Amino acid sequence: MSGWLAVAGLGPGDAALVTPEVTEALAQATDVIGYIPYVARVAPREGLVLHASDNRVELDRAALALGLAAEGRRVVVVSSGDPGVFAMASAVFEALEAGPEAWRAIDIRVLPGITAMLAASARAGAPLGHDFCTINLSDNLKPWSLIEKRLRLAVEADFAMAFYNPRSKARPHGFARVLDLLRALCGADRPILFARAVSTPEEALHVVPLGEARPEMADMRTMVILGSSTTRRIERPAGPILYTPRFAGEGA
Ligand code: SAH
Repeated sequence: MSGWLAVAGLGPGDAALVTPEVTEALAQATDVIGYIPYVARVAPREGLVLHASDNRVELDRAALALGLAAEGRRVVVVSSGDPGVFAMASAVFEALEAGPEAWRAIDIRVLPGITAMLAASARAGAPLGHDFCTINLSDNLKPWSLIEKRLRLAVEADFAMAFYNPRSKARPHGFARVLDLLRALCGADRPILFARAVSTPEEALHVVPLGEARPEMADMRTMVILGSSTTRRIERPAGPILYTPRFAGEGA
């Protein structure tokens, strides 16, 4: 049987949020490749080789996957959430573009998943119900100045914003700077959501005004969503709903 490569998203955590398409690809795979905690979400079985690797070796992982698929194996590269959102799909294509010509004949598919931003916004209500943008706050692969520029322009455009990778042990100070900048640009009343470990047993959601947001409210497992100027909070006994109405601007 000829080999193939599927780059698959496992969703935010809950097995119920893995698509049937991804489940089917995993059932047919001979090899699963990915970051250790994501590979740990795949059930071991006879005939399936699990290749778990450390973080930050995305290109090695991608080259391993392409090499195995070229040899005829059925390979699934796993990411959390969606594989096209700050994850392995781009790494696979970077390796493909730089790699041997023969790799271009490989059957490659990207299988979408529910990205953390959508899982978090669904839990909170609908904060991304109008125009929004997404920014990865890690400066591992881009300069800090570019992050600040994008934040400024996104505030100017009045987007709601979804922030991935807000804070890690290796980058403890950047998120404090982000909060300071946002407070200066948006004021203290703008609602901000901290959604940690969405769809897992450790899930925790907090909605606070920007003036009360603290860097420690976020870690590597937190999705942060900042409202636009029109985002609203509905108080309820069961907890607040955060939503952005479908209309904005003068024509509204
Ligand atoms: N490809 C993934 C994102 C990888 S970047 C996706 O589409 O979701 C990793 C970041 O995603 C984390 O730092 C965190 O900001 C966010 N994230 C991933 N899973 C999450 C979850 N279950 N709850 C909250 N945030 C999550």
